[in-house]
Amino acid sequence: MRQFACDCGAAVYFENDFCINCGSALGYDPRRNDMVTLADWGNGVYHDLLGNGYRYCGNGEEFGVCNWLRPSDDASHFCVACQFNRTIPDQSRSENQQRWQVLERAKKRLFYTLGQLNLPLINGWQDPQRGLLLDFIEDARSSDEYPETFVSTGYLGGVVTINVLEADDAARVAAREELHERYRTVLGHLRHESGHYYWALLNPDADMLWEFRELFGDERDDYRGALDRHYHEGPPADWRERYISAYASAHPSEDWAECWGHYLHIYDALETAWAHKLLGVQPPVMTMAERLGAWSRISLMLNELNRSVGRGDAYPFVINELVAEKLEFIEAAIHRLRALN
Ligand SMILES: [Zn+2]
Ligand SMILES: [Zn+2]
Ligand SMILES: [Zn+2]
Repeated sequence: MRQFACDCGAAVYFENDFCINCGSALGYDPRRNDMVTLADWGNGVYHDLLGNGYRYCGNGEEFGVCNWLRPSDDASHFCVACQFNRTIPDQSRSENQQRWQVLERAKKRLFYTLGQLNLPLINGWQDPQRGLLLDFIEDARSSDEYPETFVSTGYLGGVVTINVLEADDAARVAAREELHERYRTVLGHLRHESGHYYWALLNPDADMLWEFRELFGDERDDYRGALDRHYHEGPPADWRERYISAYASAHPSEDWAECWGHYLHIYDALETAWAHKLLGVQPPVMTMAERLGAWSRISLMLNELNRSVGRGDAYPFVINELVAEKLEFIEAAIHRLRALN
């Protein structure tokens, strides 16, 4: 993530909707890829220094969960990122307001990085064949309104489903412990699930598919059976030599999505490091090997900083040689996906 500044000169952050220094309204303009300082023109219309007219996204105006802007004359009620929502958490239940905020913030970070990578961003309303939609869904664990359902976070046919409870710290930590995971975050889920979507969009040619199967395995292997086996028997003892995480060993498609998620983690974290002058070059001009070299240094520093303040490792993963090759493959896939723009 880059660093942003208010027109008054104060540093502001991606999630801000006002400047604590000068009190101006702020929002993120995805077309300019920048935070914009706003003056209020009344009736929900704002303008910047250049006189461009803006409105906040409808989800910001109505629910306070989005600080992205849309042009004041835009036909859509929502910002470009909220146009991907299909199901939102039931706002009549007060605990869901905070949870939706958490989900939206993570979603915006995902979209920001997808934009930095110049990946196609097509919503499923625009293009039901190739587009993406998001469902933030509850089940019996959070409300007895849904006694029969048990909703897992996942991806199917152009739709990413996130269980709203993932935005609840206590519930997410309980799930992490139960599944013996070392890392579980909403942003991590979203990045992982976006990997399934982009795999479906990629439509690899025969050479690329061959290379995929050499590295990750055969994605046509029985998926349900593989996941059942993973949850009953656990990962193979030597998973650390071949995978980025235990879950990645469950099935080639999960390995791809895990690596995709890590590609985005690394890319965004290195951009943050560059923005804060811990790194001299920006990730887009680095090769994958250079990024991995820098990330090995910076992630160690990040973990040590975390331990210095009594926290666990921020990035509890080791990138072995085979995972590095998988990340190179993802880099090539991203180049191919860009051509679809
Ligand atoms: Zn300011
Ligand atoms: Zn929005
Ligand atoms: Zn997955």
